[in-house]
Formats: sequence, structure tokens, C-alpha cells
Amino acid sequence: MRSSAEIREGFLSFFEEKGHLRRPSASLIPRADDRSTLYISAGMQPQMPFFLGREAPPAPLTTTVQKVFRTPDIDEVGLDTYHLTFFEMLGNFSFGQYFKEGAIAYATEFVQERLKLDWDRLWVTVHAGDPELKLGPDQVAIDLWEKIGMPAERIVPLPSSENFWSVGGPGPCGPDSEIYYDWGVEVGCAEGCLPGCSRCERFLEFWNLVFMEYELHPDGTLTPLPQQNIDTGMGVERISRIVQQVPSVYDTDGYQTIMAWIAAASGVAYGDSPDATKAHRVLADHGRGMTFIAAEGVTPSNEGRGYVLRRIIRRAAQHGLRIGMQPPFLDGLADSVIEEMGVAYPELVEHRGDIHRVLTAEEERFGETLERGMKLFDEAAARGEITGDDAFTLQATYGFPIELTMELARERGLGVNDEEFTRLMAEHREISRAGVAGGNVQRAAEFASSAGFRTEFVGYEKTEVLTQIGALEELGGGLFLAKLRESPFYPAGGGQVTDAGVLEKEDGARAELREAYRFDGDQALLFEAVAGSGGGAGEFAVGDRVKAVVPWSVRFPTMANHTATHVLHECLREVLGDHVKQAGSAVRPDKLRFDFTHPQALTAAERAEVEKRANEKIFANLPVRIYETPIEEARKLGAMMLFGEKYGDIVRVVDIDGWSVELCGGTHVRSTAEIGPFAILGESSVGAGARRIEAVTAGEAFAYLHERAREADLLRDELERVRKEPRKGPAEAAVEFEIVDREGPVVFAEAKELKGGPLRDLSDRLRRQEKADGAFVASVDDGRAYLVVNLDDSLVGRGLDAVQLVRELGKHIGGGGGGRPTLAEAGGKNPGGVRDALAAGKKAVAAALQ
Ligand code: ATP
Ligand code: MG
Repeated sequence: MRSSAEIREGFLSFFEEKGHLRRPSASLIPRADDRSTLYISAGMQPQMPFFLGREAPPAPLTTTVQKVFRTPDIDEVGLDTYHLTFFEMLGNFSFGQYFKEGAIAYATEFVQERLKLDWDRLWVTVHAGDPELKLGPDQVAIDLWEKIGMPAERIVPLPSSENFWSVGGPGPCGPDSEIYYDWGVEVGCAEGCLPGCSRCERFLEFWNLVFMEYELHPDGTLTPLPQQNIDTGMGVERISRIVQQVPSVYDTDGYQTIMAWIAAASGVAYGDSPDATKAHRVLADHGRGMTFIAAEGVTPSNEGRGYVLRRIIRRAAQHGLRIGMQPPFLDGLADSVIEEMGVAYPELVEHRGDIHRVLTAEEERFGETLERGMKLFDEAAARGEITGDDAFTLQATYGFPIELTMELARERGLGVNDEEFTRLMAEHREISRAGVAGGNVQRAAEFASSAGFRTEFVGYEKTEVLTQIGALEELGGGLFLAKLRESPFYPAGGGQVTDAGVLEKEDGARAELREAYRFDGDQALLFEAVAGSGGGAGEFAVGDRVKAVVPWSVRFPTMANHTATHVLHECLREVLGDHVKQAGSAVRPDKLRFDFTHPQALTAAERAEVEKRANEKIFANLPVRIYETPIEEARKLGAMMLFGEKYGDIVRVVDIDGWSVELCGGTHVRSTAEIGPFAILGESSVGAGARRIEAVTAGEAFAYLHERAREADLLRDELERVRKEPRKGPAEAAVEFEIVDREGPVVFAEAKELKGGPLRDLSDRLRRQEKADGAFVASVDDGRAYLVVNLDDSLVGRGLDAVQLVRELGKHIGGGGGGRPTLAEAGGKNPGGVRDALAAGKKAVAAALQ
């Protein structure tokens, strides 16, 4: 048994021989009722309901290899030879069957007979006892180890901090016993160094046996559990390192494809320099982590699971650049992981496209600010200190996760003023309302779970309900968390945003809904008391009768937009093909956004066809039927299921006359005609292989179409006027400009002392004169910079959008702008940036037209 694959299989079949049922790895994402960690961090975690007696185990004895991810270990990765974030944990579990004796005997047999480890190099630790728990040393374990042949001097008692396992509060718990491999006194820090030493890497822990025998009560006392359980965990990577006798987990066979790819892509060998060693380890470990996490459908964000993904992507991106990799490289890194692990984990192969898209989009996004952020960091470091303000700017403006800033500072022996940083972040949150809501998620979760009841969501049928406040927590500043017995408020989910709404009391006191938090089948609400309406947050208390209202003027257009999203999805599949898959959506009252997979920009004809078909389906007034059904039935109906979405056994189906069938928890209109007119505002790119459509319906669509018609009339008048006017030769010639570049059918020019109408005229003239489909013209006038982007419809059809472009390029001239997809302009206070703006424009055009 040598390779990691052999060890993995050897372990599972060994325990099968001992009567254990082999079970598959659970998802990396914990179940909704497990809020203990963001990602599964041990093989036993998915077994918790069995240990707690809440659910019956599938068998009294089981064995698994579980994918795990340990967020707290992120910063260790790179610095030592054995801490990973993502790893595979082997485990054997006994639910009330064998206990300490069986666990120790099996572990001994496996390492001696199957792995053939050198027994003389093995040590074990046991629980030393704990006066606070009124426990003596774990004499039973000590005796068992001695009886099985472990010399007394290699049995090391350690305190509760190391060798006592609990769920982190009241619940099942017990002592544990860890098995260590001794690499030899030569690599130790001192002669008498023992397992558990944190100064050197002489002893490597590879297997932990947990003896679950007590229940911890809230008053701190222990009583024996009615049934004793065994949970063990052994990291595949660490045991492979021991079996293969290599210097680090990264030198084991399971990493070789990945390590070779990193060396090739960077041109730098592992071990070349301390920097290179660290970078290779970070890339190899985080590369596995990000690939497995993205395969679960998680996307980068600023909180929770998404933030963990963002942190490891950005940390890996930074280390890759440091050893000379050419971005984008994370998709290639993911491919090396898939090659290495795709056979054991087919979900990686299945979701390869989605993994690439998520990683590359995040890498590009960070790439835009990374260089400038590093410059700021270097400047701050040169001053000898990273202030809280620097750290804040790095995070808020340049997207450097605080942990990355701290790591960079540590590398240079500098500190970060994190107190000041935390204060600035808190202030920033106060200012931004979304921030206020975001910062309270954890608190809301605790609040909801301690309330002791579930809120009944009645928002599918009603937008107004008389109900009672069942729980309340003041947050200060007029804000409070509340749980209602019944609630009409839809908490953001399935792309649909949180409802707007108010709470009203009979005495006139009012509070506005600021955020609704969704938990599995439950919700908590954040309100802000309306000043002058009869008092502050103190006016609301547990037991109050209240009216909870979602304004119809907000809910109705939201429903119209949600149903329109389903209509659009189906029309895109009809027009473009079945490869179109939803990649994200945002349903708001004023507009909708739909992201989908498609390799290139829609042509003008495709876009028009999609819009036309959607309106036909709307005017056909198809009924929208909503019902719940077992997931198997829904599958038979061909219901569309979203990648990365977790569905229960009973699913909610939104069925538009059998033509579009999707699983969805959102709010919808009753028939398509209620959507009203549907108009596409624009189409653009969102990273490799994905497109975005923004559209409006109902009243918003009417207003938009009306404006479009008015502009067309004005344009006709203008054309008429120009046609009649005499040609303006000499005046035109007086304008000073210079063509600086060209990219395909697009010209780039710089002018002097022009802005507004004349600058726009120049862009038209350049297009005529140069027979170009597009013109980017920048100018400096009176110390300010101006920019016009003028595009033909055909370029818009190929994914360029003048409005988006001027917003992006406006950053270089220190300003912003707007306009229409075909013609937009920006102005700013930084004349020095016009060349950069044009250069960035050229890059954007090249990328869109390649
Ligand atoms: P350490 O003290 O080395 O961080 P631990 O006490 O956190 O380890 P356990 O929680 O007991 O480890 O996990 C059980 C087994 O999982 C360990 O014996 C080891 O083989 C493996 N393991 C734990 N953490 C890691 C990690 N960060 N990287 C690789 N393997 C790990
Ligand atoms: Mg640990």
C-alpha cells in the first residue's frame, strides 16, 4: 500500500472487512441545520445527527473518506510542510458499538499490518485529565495502549486544549488519543521534545481517535452518555507522506500533476527559494480548495462561504504573480487539479466549465486593482507601518482581503493597525445601509435560532398580514431584529431581492424593513424605527400586534420581473440553443438581470428575436402554475435545475403552461400577460463564456420604449436638418486632433480644447472619414479631461457597450459618465489619464472582438 489512492481504498476496505458500511463523502457545504462551520471540517461532521441521536445512522458501523476544508488553517498553508486547507479525511465510526478497545486495536492493526509503519517511530497522546471537568487521566486508554505494545515512555498525556473533544458547547464530548510519527531526534528542536511540540516538525500527528463518552451540560458538569461512540479522523495527505517517506505533503504522489504544472507555468522550481517554496505550496493547496469549492456552486463574495473562496483565490493569485505566472492562470491550475483528482471526484470534471468561469472572473476582477494596490502597500511599507487607514483603503478600493494585507505585512516584519482598521470598517458599515445589514448576519442567525419558533412565510399568498412580534432584539440607533409569527416579507433568494416593507402598530409607530435574513425554512428581519412616527425602536416589543405590509407597487413589478426571467431563459434556449444555462440572476422591482452561458455576444438579430419571442409568450397570456412535488416527479417533467443549487426532497415548481418548467422559490404573476411589455436594455460580457442581459417589464418597459421612440424621431429630424445644411468644410478643419491608434474597425484619437457637442461631432466625423464602425475620442479642455465613445449597432451586437466603456475608462480620467450603448461620454478631473483611457479602450475592444 503506497500510493494515496491505494491508501484511501485500503483504509475503506479494511474497515469494510471489520463490518463497517462504506459511505460516500458528503458535500463540502454543511447541511442547513448545521451552522457550526462554513465548510465541512472533519469526517465526523456529517455524522453529527447520528451521534446526537437525532437521526438513525445508516448502519451501526460506517467508514468514509470525506472532503474537508479548514478555514482557520488558511494562514498556515505555505509556511509548514503539513497544514492544508483542503484535504481528504479517512474515518471509521461506531455508533454505540465498539469503544476505546476496538478503536485502538483496529488503528494498531491497520498501521502495523496494512501500512507496515515502523512501530518504533509511533507515539500516542492521551487526555491528561482536567480538574475543571473533574476528570482524571484517561487511564483506560493508557492501559489499552500499553497492552497492545506501546512503551509507556511513548504515551504522552496532554491537557484538554489538545486532547479533549467537544462540540464547542453543551453536547456530546470526550477525551481523544492521537497517533504521531517521529521523524527523528535530528529534526527536533531539543533532545526531550515530545508530540504536541509547536516549535519543530519532529512529530507529525496523523490519526485522531475520539472517544465520545460524556455529555457536557450548560452548568459545566459531565454525565456519561447512554451510548458510547467512536469517531476517528486521518488525513490522506499526511499518512501518504509518512508511507512514502517524503519531506512534505506536497511531495506525495497525489500532488505531482499539480506541482509539475505550477513549475511549468511559472518557470520556477519548487524549493528554488523560500518565496518559491511558499508560492508553490499556496498554489497547490488553494488550487485544490478553490476547485472543489467552486464545483459546489459557491461564488466569491464579501461574506461567509463566498468570502473564504475570495480569500484563497486572491491569495493564490498574488502568489502566482510573485513567481512570474502570466494571468489568467487559475483556470490552468484548476485543470491540473481536475486531472489529478477528477477520477476520484467526477463532480470536478462535470463542472469544469463553471469552475473556469468562476475562477477566471474573480482573478480578472482582482487583477484590475492588484498592481495599484501593491504599489500603495509598498509605499506604506516603506514608511515603516501599515496604518488602519492603509488596510482599509486596500480592502475597500483595491479588494485586498485584510488577511492578505496582514500576511504581506508579516512577511516584511511589519504590523497592521487592525484596531483602527476594524473601527474604520465598522464606521463604513454604519454609513452604508447594506453594510449594516451584512454585518448582522451572524447575529441574526443566533437570534433566529434562539427564538424557539419558526416564522411562517405567507408572502406567496398575501402582501399584508396582521400578526404578532414573537421575538425582538435591540441593536441601537433605532435598529432592531424581529421575528414575526407570520411574515409576508420575501428574504432575498433565487436571485430575487428582499422585499421592501413596513411594520405598523395601531398607535401609529412605524418601522421600515432594512433586511430580511433567510434561514432554512425560517427568517429574521432587521427594521429601522421611523423617527417621528411615535418613537424609536423601544416602541416595538415582544407580543405586540402589528401589521406587516409589502407595498404592492414594489411587489408586483418584482413578480412580473421574476416570471419574465423564466420567459427570457426559455427564449434564449430556443434562439441560441440548449447550451444556454443560467449562471446567475437578479430580480428587482425596477429591472431584471440574467446571466447565462454562451460563448459570444448576441448578434443584433438574435437579440431582436429573443425580445420578440418573449413578448409573444407574454401576449399569449399563458397561465403560470405553481405547485410542490417530489423532486423525482419534477425531474421527469424536465424541470430546469440550477447548477450549485441544493434542492430538498419536495420542490416548488413554476410551470408556464408546460412551456417553461423551473424549480423556483420566488414570487410570480398568475399569467404571462401580467408581465406587460418586455424590453432588453443591453447585453454584455461577464467573464469568459458568460453573457448578461438586462431587461425591463411592465411600466418600466413602457417608459423605456417610449423614450426609444422619441429618440428615433429626434434622430430623424436631425438627419433631415443635416441633409439640408451646406457642408461645413473649413470649420471642421479648424478642429485640432490626432489619430493615435486603431484596433480593427475602431479608431482612437486625441483632440484639443473640445468637449460636449463638438467632441461628439468629431467622433461622428472620424467614423465617416476613417470608415470606422467605432471611435474613441479623448480631449483636454480647460484643465479637465473628456471622452466620447461612439459605436455602430453592429459593435454593440458584438458585446461592446459605450455606457459600460465610458464608466470603465472614466476611472483613468478621474470621473464618470453615461449615455446610450451606441454613444456615451465621460468627463473627469485628471487630464493626465487620457492616454491610459484610450489604451484601456483599445484593450477592451480587442478583447470583445477577438
Ligand atoms: P493539527 O494539530 O496538526 O492542526 P488537528 O488536531 O487539528 O491537527 P484533527 O482535528 O484531530 O487534527 O484532525 C484529524 C486528522 O486530520 C489529523 O490527525 C490529520 O491527519 C488531519 N488534519 C487535520 N488538520 C489538517 C490540515 N490542516 N492539513 C492536513 N491534514 C490535517
Ligand atoms: Mg488543526
